[in-house]
Amino acid sequence: MAESDDIFLRAKHRIYTGLTEDPESVWNGPFCFIQAADPQLGLMKAWRDGDCDGGGDEWAEEVELTKRAVEAVNQLRPRPRFMVLCGDLVHAMPDTPYRGGQERDLKAALKGTDPSIPLVFVSGNHDLGNTPTPSTVEQYCSAWGDDYFSFWVGGVLCLVLNSQLFYDDSACPQLKDAQEKWLEEQLSRSSSSSSSMVPKHVLVFQHIPLYLKSPDEEDDYFNLQKGVRQSLLDRFKKAGVKAVFSGHYHRNAGGCHGGLDMVVSSAIGCQLGDDTHGVRVVVVTADSVIHRYHSLEQLRTQGIDEDLRKLLQA
Ligand SMILES: [Zn+2]
Repeated sequence: MAESDDIFLRAKHRIYTGLTEDPESVWNGPFCFIQAADPQLGLMKAWRDGDCDGGGDEWAEEVELTKRAVEAVNQLRPRPRFMVLCGDLVHAMPDTPYRGGQERDLKAALKGTDPSIPLVFVSGNHDLGNTPTPSTVEQYCSAWGDDYFSFWVGGVLCLVLNSQLFYDDSACPQLKDAQEKWLEEQLSRSSSSSSSMVPKHVLVFQHIPLYLKSPDEEDDYFNLQKGVRQSLLDRFKKAGVKAVFSGHYHRNAGGCHGGLDMVVSSAIGCQLGDDTHGVRVVVVTADSVIHRYHSLEQLRTQGIDEDLRKLLQA
């Protein structure tokens, strides 16, 4: 493990047997966590230059924004239970120039995160390549931890997925099959009443949204193709998944359909719409999962919105 890995929540539960009682599987009352996406070091300059296929040869702005996010999150009370980064950690694709420097500088910026707030990493298309291969997945895993895994926090089961395997598995069908098999086990156990650990809620984290606004919208660069989208929606609903958190769109979007909340959060880094650099505050209560995007400035100066804070005192 790299030297800064002590702040990273590594995948301990890819093989979740359900045989051992995880102390975090027990509900202990309301809590909050932070969901963020797309620090994507290098995109802001590449976007301004109109060369998004290039690696982006400067990333000081994104480093600064990431540090600001970390500072704002560190001072929150009560402390978030974890912070999840939903992919596109860096802009440079695997095996391209600037990749190493961007990864190194992102790790350095995140190192200031309070040790009591574990970081959870999700892989994005820029982290793995649009068509991932066994080699790019392996590179990601050695830099950031497993590309899919689950963990418990305060009675809630969290599933981290590699959405690139849903998007294009042509160069790594075996990896796609392995994630499918694992996911099926997770979903069936989470909804099985015979399991010793019944989650209060089940949440999913992935980079590419299932959809941006409506489950039946047309295929697009920013959503998952209709066939795989519908199948995941059906499986998630059947397993009682309450919300899917994503990024990739660099704008806030999403919608709640059939009891499943599809949450699309804008970026820490480059904005492609009218949102500001920010992160999403998620409050988990016994009955619901409530979330709201906060700009970095707002979070730093005012903390979590008061109505959300009140839910945490209940
Ligand atoms: Zn992306």
